[in-house]
Amino acid sequence: MGTALQTEDVSQAAVDRTACRSRGVRMGLWPIRYKPQPDELLSSWLVRLAHGHGLKVQTFCNLIFGNRRQVWNRDIDRLAPDWLVETLALHTGTPIEIARKTTLKVFEGTLYPHFHPSGTLLWIQTMKVYHRQREGLGQQYCPACLAADTVPYFRKTWRVSLKTFCLQHGCYLLDRCHACGAPVAFHRVDMDRDETEAAALSRCHRCGEDLSNGPRCPPHIWDEEAFTALSQIIGALDAVTLGEQTPLSPGTLAVLRHLCAMLLGRRRKLRLRAYLSERYGVAEPEVGSRKRSVIESQGIETRHTVLAWSAWMLCSPKERFRQAIANKAVRYNHFFRDFDDPPQWYWDSLRNHPLHRLPASGIGRDHDTE
Ligand SMILES: [Zn+2]
Ligand SMILES: [Zn+2]
Repeated sequence: MGTALQTEDVSQAAVDRTACRSRGVRMGLWPIRYKPQPDELLSSWLVRLAHGHGLKVQTFCNLIFGNRRQVWNRDIDRLAPDWLVETLALHTGTPIEIARKTTLKVFEGTLYPHFHPSGTLLWIQTMKVYHRQREGLGQQYCPACLAADTVPYFRKTWRVSLKTFCLQHGCYLLDRCHACGAPVAFHRVDMDRDETEAAALSRCHRCGEDLSNGPRCPPHIWDEEAFTALSQIIGALDAVTLGEQTPLSPGTLAVLRHLCAMLLGRRRKLRLRAYLSERYGVAEPEVGSRKRSVIESQGIETRHTVLAWSAWMLCSPKERFRQAIANKAVRYNHFFRDFDDPPQWYWDSLRNHPLHRLPASGIGRDHDTE
């Protein structure tokens, strides 16, 4: 047997280096350990990490998660499986609480009361995932933000229906490629390209156009006061995603969404959309043929218009609700139908209407002649 190793034979620096490497191996730190950018989405972070390693997204995901765990056949920013978030956190040395904040759960308690995995999540744009395809217009972006990024990435607030323009750049968000009209699917950007460097997240996955070249159009201002109100909401959202307190009122958001639903709906005797289109002297915004269309599946133009008109009504609710009823654009009961637990001020704004009755379990039903 050889001589027993004497501890003084080994320098302290070597011991430290080895211990450090050993910790690294145990933690399995990846060579590239990007951290999430401000407001960055989980999916965007994952794609950046793949490309940072010089790998295609699918190759990287197969290596990390194996073939049996499919990543992209779901909306991972919404569903955010623990195994995925924890893996990214562990191997990039990112605190788990920071990693968890890359998901759309960050809006729980602000935009929607409780997270749920299926069905419409209030104010979160739907992706309509079909296998690995994205058929919905759920991923918006600001072309100017993408152009200004050192490495382009996608933000959580770009998934929010309420956000139709970028406060920082004063332009509309876009929800499809300006060159070919494809919905955004940045996880597919490297599929037909050999070089991952040429597959920046800002490229259209279908035609390769740089989305940061998209038009930067100032948002249409239907009414100054309503526009200011929407800007304040967007400003508060931007603050939420960066972890700041928000002055957003759940009751106000609930009313705003209900008015949007009334504007998008196709109920009998409900012609609020036509009424406001006449008021502004424009064609009616394009809405799907469904009886109950939701704001979360609308394209940017319709959404901006419907939000702005709803905000306009909310700036002077008592007067504008009454005008709409008087003009037979809407019935009193429409204000309460499918609306659970409206805030008191909303009740009050309709209080003196002749059809108002309190207390009101099932208010409006007595007067509903549909
Ligand atoms: Zn921007
Ligand atoms: Zn394109």
